[in-house]
Amino acid sequence: MPATIALIGRPNVGKSTLFNRLLRSNRSIVHDRPGVTRDRVYGEVREEDVRYALIDTGGMVLEAEPGGEGFEQPIFEQAREAVTEAQAILLVVDGREGLSPLDRDAATFVRQSNKPALLVVNKIDGAEQEGLLTAEFHALGFEIMPVSGAHGFGLDSLRRRVAEMARELEPEEPGEDDADRGLRLALLGRPNAGKSSLINAVIRQNRLIVSDVPGTTRDAVDVSFEAGGRLYTFVDTAGVRRKANIEDSLERFTVMRSLKTSKRADVTILVLDGAEPLSRQDKRLIAFLDAEKTPFCVVVNKIDLIGRENMPALRKHFEDALRQAPHVPVLYVSTVTRAGLGGLLPLVERIKKECALRVGTGQLNRAVREAIDRHQPPMVHRRRAKFYYLTQADEPVPTFVFFVNNADLIKPAYTRYLENSLRKTFGIRMAPLEVVYRASHEKKDEDRKG
Ligand code: GDP
Ligand code: GDP
Repeated sequence: MPATIALIGRPNVGKSTLFNRLLRSNRSIVHDRPGVTRDRVYGEVREEDVRYALIDTGGMVLEAEPGGEGFEQPIFEQAREAVTEAQAILLVVDGREGLSPLDRDAATFVRQSNKPALLVVNKIDGAEQEGLLTAEFHALGFEIMPVSGAHGFGLDSLRRRVAEMARELEPEEPGEDDADRGLRLALLGRPNAGKSSLINAVIRQNRLIVSDVPGTTRDAVDVSFEAGGRLYTFVDTAGVRRKANIEDSLERFTVMRSLKTSKRADVTILVLDGAEPLSRQDKRLIAFLDAEKTPFCVVVNKIDLIGRENMPALRKHFEDALRQAPHVPVLYVSTVTRAGLGGLLPLVERIKKECALRVGTGQLNRAVREAIDRHQPPMVHRRRAKFYYLTQADEPVPTFVFFVNNADLIKPAYTRYLENSLRKTFGIRMAPLEVVYRASHEKKDEDRKG
């Protein structure tokens, strides 16, 4: 699990701007996904050799009430959540406005958390302003990073420093009991979708092995069972049992928690209530899971409440919702009548198997060369992308790295074509699949010589 770092600070200091800056040059879970952009709150940054998760509390802090009591007000609940969630903090302040009482409160709060923190003094729109605008912030006692989110000043240093911080953070160890737990399954979905019923229905039919409550660090209860001679574990079932509470109204953190749970699993099962239309939050969760390349399937529950004649419309409703991620399989079940339940474990096994697929470089290049010859990448500004070779990266989901002369010459439609070719050729129907481009100059020189 990568380290999590939170951006906090009062409104308008530039947290969102910095969040975007830190993510943009990297891969963000929200990249080019219409509809998600506005709600971006949580992203993964890859910097040098480290990865870390970044939380932006930007859009969530309400305007401070005049005469309010600073950081103890409920308006900072969300920032507090983020600080709890994170292993390190970036406290952002506005260099042009200077030190405000709210900044002092925030600083005290961050200090009390005892977590490593940097004070990012933003809106230093040029090196010449650095000394003047940062001076008074030294009083807060943090290491200071002067930057301009808007103009780029200091951002490289900030990126490097945050990456260093992430590297130093002890990565959250996966529970030592995670190893021999067979295929790990995470159950996500809104309260009342039927997650607990699903666990019970699956377990009742099979042999329950353990039901344990691990240590204090993790609010998790893993439940293992054996079926058909194979071992399975539902991870973090405590989260499943936690019913709707105030935190669920903070949708962003619900999504974040869901992602965290699914990271512990091999395959995630998103349970939806078939008797209700898909909610906005469900749609968002699907978009996030897809963008995060999470291996997952959707289980539409409670079909006993749907008349047989209404099933085609129901299927259409959920298929439409998954148009962006057509590889995600949907299973229609009822935990009451047990209809469809027999398909669940074979389905997750299939997804897991596809994720584990490894294709040799030779075979891969032959197959893809054929696909590229069949369909050349279109010209862009009278230039055409050149593909040198590709290889499969050692990642949890099928990830193919193409070495090319210039990735900017490849349009999304062509990437989709390559993805579909790879899926067809290697039978990757349900697992996430990722295509990554790397510029390869050395290879280009070789080509010239040859
Ligand atoms: P947040 O509320 O903390 O997330 O702040 P935003 O990122 O939304 O930024 C608040 C305002 O400050 C916006 O109008 C930004 O364009 C502006 N801003 C952000 N960074 C800078 C900067 O480095 N310099 C200047 N001059 N303005 C900035
Ligand atoms: P959770 O909050 O997602 O764990 O949902 P529960 O498993 O607690 O189920 C919520 C409610 O839906 C309970 O009243 C269940 O009895 C009911 N329920 C669960 N599965 C089904 C189903 O397949 N059909 C019907 N009709 N009700 C179901």
